[in-house]
Amino acid sequence: MNNQRKIIKIWGQDPAESDLGMVNVDLTLPKEKWPIEVCCGGKQIKNLLTVSHPEITDFFNTEQLKDLIHTYGVSLMMLQYGEKLLGKAIKWSWNRKGENLPLLLYPYYDEDINAYYVKEERAVQLCKYGIPPYKKYACRSFDIVAHETAHAIYDALQPAWHDLKTDTEAGAIKEAFCDLCVVFLFLSQLVLCNYILKVTGSDLSKKSVLTTIGEEFYQNRLRDINVLVKYDEVNKSRKYEFSVVFSGGMYEVLANYFQYALEKNKTNNPTMLLMKISGELAKILFFTIANEKEVKPTMALLITQMAGFAMDYDNPILAGLIKESFIRRRVI
Ligand SMILES: [Zn+2]
Repeated sequence: MNNQRKIIKIWGQDPAESDLGMVNVDLTLPKEKWPIEVCCGGKQIKNLLTVSHPEITDFFNTEQLKDLIHTYGVSLMMLQYGEKLLGKAIKWSWNRKGENLPLLLYPYYDEDINAYYVKEERAVQLCKYGIPPYKKYACRSFDIVAHETAHAIYDALQPAWHDLKTDTEAGAIKEAFCDLCVVFLFLSQLVLCNYILKVTGSDLSKKSVLTTIGEEFYQNRLRDINVLVKYDEVNKSRKYEFSVVFSGGMYEVLANYFQYALEKNKTNNPTMLLMKISGELAKILFFTIANEKEVKPTMALLITQMAGFAMDYDNPILAGLIKESFIRRRVI
């Protein structure tokens, strides 16, 4: 059977914040059992995107259906992007003994300013808060849905690392990986890449929605990864701040590598070049996380491995940029 494709509409950014609006993305639909399901209004919906569901259209209003499709679409895109980078299926951590149970997305979870990945419940719980018309929904955020799905992916690739609850550096790396997944997933889409190049004038070191994670939901504790945070200066007990040492370093590599490639290639299609560059760096990150055998990760270990992978791919320029960025942050 051929892979079925479907174009769906998602928000490139939360509708409460964005001038980006809804954009079309092209999804490949799973051939067999769907790895992700949506739980909403007491229903567990198995294959939201494939068939017409009178029971769903009767049950949910248009706005809810938009939310469900966005949430489901971004989560599935995140998983499929990771699988494409690794060249193999990603098996959720709870399926390691041969089961085939889906990840469950809860788009309208509790009233709270938060979102969670809960391994024990196989769940991504996306909360909502505030009073209409200013109510905010985590499920409408590209960043938050991608970030929480990335937690499930990280757990699938390195379940023991995921469970290192008291190791602050392991916790920071996990958060950094999830934030970087948001950036890489965003740049895997043509229309979103175009948008970023337009608003930054093709200079990724400029501030943009690309590097502000969850801006719509967390205005008071916004996380911008386009910053220089040094390993020996950061407060390591604050995992999100600590995570920016790693995510910020990787973002700087992306920005510098793109700048280098732009100057070298003199292309008239910078969008395709950015998609390619971003994909190369994402692949190195995913391969490093997926293949590492140490019982716990450190930033220095991962950076050294990534630079090594870049050399294996015959890319000394990228290896040099990785080292340079993390020497500046005093990680290596
Ligand atoms: Zn997180």
